[in-house]
Amino acid sequence: MNEPTNNRLRALPSVDALMNRAADLTAAYGYPAALEAVRAVLDGLRERIRAGETLAPGTADILAQAADHLKRRFQPTLRPVINATGIIIHTNLGRAPLSTAAQQAVQTAAAFYNTLEFDLETGGRGSRLVHADLLLQDVTGAEAALVVNNNAAALVLALSALASGREVVISRGQLVEIGGGFRVPDVMAQSGALLREVGTTNRTRAADYERAITPETAALLRAHASNFKQVGFVESVPLPELAEIAHRHSLILIDDLGSGALLDTAAYGLEHEPTVQESVQAGADLVCFSGDKLLGGPQAGILVGRRELIDRLKRHPLARAIRADKLCLAGLSATLEHYRKGEAAQAVPIWQMIARPLDDIRQTAEKWAAQVGGEVIAGESAVGGGSLPGETLPTALLALDVPQPDAFMERLRAAEPPVIGRIAGGRVLFDPRTVLPGQDQDLMRIVGDLMQSSGG
Ligand SMILES: *Cc1c(COP(=O)(O)O)cnc(C)c1O
Repeated sequence: MNEPTNNRLRALPSVDALMNRAADLTAAYGYPAALEAVRAVLDGLRERIRAGETLAPGTADILAQAADHLKRRFQPTLRPVINATGIIIHTNLGRAPLSTAAQQAVQTAAAFYNTLEFDLETGGRGSRLVHADLLLQDVTGAEAALVVNNNAAALVLALSALASGREVVISRGQLVEIGGGFRVPDVMAQSGALLREVGTTNRTRAADYERAITPETAALLRAHASNFKQVGFVESVPLPELAEIAHRHSLILIDDLGSGALLDTAAYGLEHEPTVQESVQAGADLVCFSGDKLLGGPQAGILVGRRELIDRLKRHPLARAIRADKLCLAGLSATLEHYRKGEAAQAVPIWQMIARPLDDIRQTAEKWAAQVGGEVIAGESAVGGGSLPGETLPTALLALDVPQPDAFMERLRAAEPPVIGRIAGGRVLFDPRTVLPGQDQDLMRIVGDLMQSSGG
């Protein structure tokens, strides 16, 4: 090894010397982790010095590198981000943000003992299943309700409890894959129910169901084709007619609605997404849907329907394995309360975003452009979450022309908090619709800094 390299290696401070000055790091991360970080940085530096890539940095510089190392290592993997994509129910970004009231309810449930399974009148054991029950009856018009971990679990429970070892009839047009490889036929197989496919991909008629019904049949299932759209030569059997067929044969009609809208999307310029109330009214015996899609609450699977069926589900052993936790029940109840009071469009964040007037969005985009540059252009936001495929809301976007859009997006994701935007037509786009009110300033600081450093 040549002499200058040896001198540079000798110029590195010792581990002891560095640790004597690392009080901040040991206080923040503990001595062992700080020691490991200092050693890792020194190892890296020795390698780079031997390769002739660097001189020996000073103590402060090395400690700063160790601090960086620790920060990255100890950073939680579940972090808040700024969603500037314009996709309102973004499954990869945690779906629905909760209302203020729901956030507070979750916090209260987390901080205190509570009546999760305690009856204050008798002083004895109560049931966790009562909490959202009455509220759900109120807002959906159903006789009874049950909340479980998520909608996939709700569907497995319904089929396991009511159709295991028997046949369930479903249209070939509804054998959908929902996302993340989650397929309706696989879920049905998991429950022990036997799938009886009828009709064709594009057309299924009442007679197809009638022909498939045998003494082995337990139920008819409708799965809402949430994330794709069939157009053209298509036909399916309307829910009231399916209910009529099911009941004439003493069968159960299960409706997997997916999104579970309680408000009418058509009031906001979107296509009409079937609502839970409509399914109940149409005669579905059980309706299942997610808590964190168009309902705008926490992750949950909600089953509503006939009391006798809900009671059977509650008694099934699987119900215990997929039960909802207290934080979910608290957040869900507070969210449902908004619907009961008729204030959901104003109070539930995803509905605020859906309902937000274009003028208001454009004003925000223009304010952003005045701060960081770029141009305001017309664009489209999407509802997402497998709801209303192909349906969009007109929006106004901030469009930035930067030399390397992909690299710019990467730096946005590396920011604190990370910013998720999108690229179209070679420009980086930000949609104000999905940026939460408190995140505006962070976004402008981050984008402003990046524009300056990239000379954009
Ligand atoms: C999203 C969806 C599900 C799964 O719901 P999770 O709450 O994500 O488990 C099931 N069925 C349909 C039709 C869906 O759209």
